[in-house]
Amino acid sequence: MTEDLFLKNCDCPLCGKAYATPRVKRSKLRPSKVESDFCIRYKGLNPIYYQVMVCPNCGYSYTEHFSPLRPQDKEMLKKRISPAKNDFTGERTLELAVESYKRALLCAMMKKEKHSLLAALNLHLAWLYRFAEDKSREEEFLQRARDYYLKMYEEEADIKDLARVVYLIGELNRRLGNIKEAGRWFTRVINDKEINDRGIIRMARERWQELRLNQEA
Ligand SMILES: [Zn+2]
Repeated sequence: MTEDLFLKNCDCPLCGKAYATPRVKRSKLRPSKVESDFCIRYKGLNPIYYQVMVCPNCGYSYTEHFSPLRPQDKEMLKKRISPAKNDFTGERTLELAVESYKRALLCAMMKKEKHSLLAALNLHLAWLYRFAEDKSREEEFLQRARDYYLKMYEEEADIKDLARVVYLIGELNRRLGNIKEAGRWFTRVINDKEINDRGIIRMARERWQELRLNQEA
């Protein structure tokens, strides 16, 4: 294993067995740029690859953002999940990272996680396909992420990061070519009295300007 990684001990919330999952050392993180949908590019190892923990014993796959397992979840998951064939305990290739997220997404859907978590997992998968330069899969997952953010916006009260969610619905629509829809959401970020995150408002203004310039051209 490369020395940029370290092993973090964890206990599987499903089967209870202890195991170690790889993480990128903080001191080795080399972020190079942040894209307009918050995807961060890194020189060297990308910590996104290591966010999903995959239990080598039972196969339960999850992130730190998963809600705790209730007894009925455990019973159901134990019947439906099987151990992974691949090894996730060392350095991960892009393919392994994709597989880890797909496993986590499946577990999250089976235990009916919140829209915000499902949106984030789908967005991360879209980024991984962006790294792989697989445009059609990237768009497939951007669309799924957009749909979950939309459900979250429509159905969840007291959204913690409202500015980011409204901005992302606009930005994911823009990336999917739904320009009018994107414009509506960027305008909402700029005009909504409940939104006062200056950084996000500035980003929405920039995207909105770009859209108008492109339409005039
Ligand atoms: Zn386990």
